[in-house]
Amino acid sequence: MTKEQVLDIFLRSDALLEGHFRLTSGRHSNRYVQCAQVLQYPAYTGQLAAFLAERVREAVGTPDLVVGPAMGGILVAYEVGRELGVRSIFTERENGAMTLRRSFAVKPGEKVVVCEDVVTTGGSVKEVMEVVRKAGGEVLAVASLIDRSNGVVDFGVPFQSALSMEVISWEPEECPLCKEGIPAIKPGSRT
Ligand SMILES: [Zn+2]
Repeated sequence: MTKEQVLDIFLRSDALLEGHFRLTSGRHSNRYVQCAQVLQYPAYTGQLAAFLAERVREAVGTPDLVVGPAMGGILVAYEVGRELGVRSIFTERENGAMTLRRSFAVKPGEKVVVCEDVVTTGGSVKEVMEVVRKAGGEVLAVASLIDRSNGVVDFGVPFQSALSMEVISWEPEECPLCKEGIPAIKPGSRT
């Protein structure tokens, strides 16, 4: 699958919207990402996971398992795990702290790839990495469907993404789309 085909999947599933948006921060943007939209289509999710799994395999080889943070990371980790032929587990928050529950475990020495749907600051991924390392696992790489960190995030291990997109936003008074007279839409409300 090519980069263009990956982008096409995000656009066709409305996970990536192009237009003129008013973000919760109050800033305006020409793009809006809602990764859950693509995850509602198992076929698309599978194709993207296959793309991601191939890049992971090329970069660091095949891990022993993949781990993703709930909620968004669960489905990505599951599909990437299927592609790599390894087991897939997830972390979740308990009293605010990222943890493994349900008797999920990382065994000492196991090689792990951490999977996420969208990486922005990378906070959740870093918490999962910490959980894995405390259990004695080795984090080989991080894989995410979308990287919108604008190249800022550094996990200290190889980071693969299916789609890396720069998110440009403006203060409303500086927004070029407002200057063109295009109405701004609040994402989520399709008006
Ligand atoms: Zn605007």
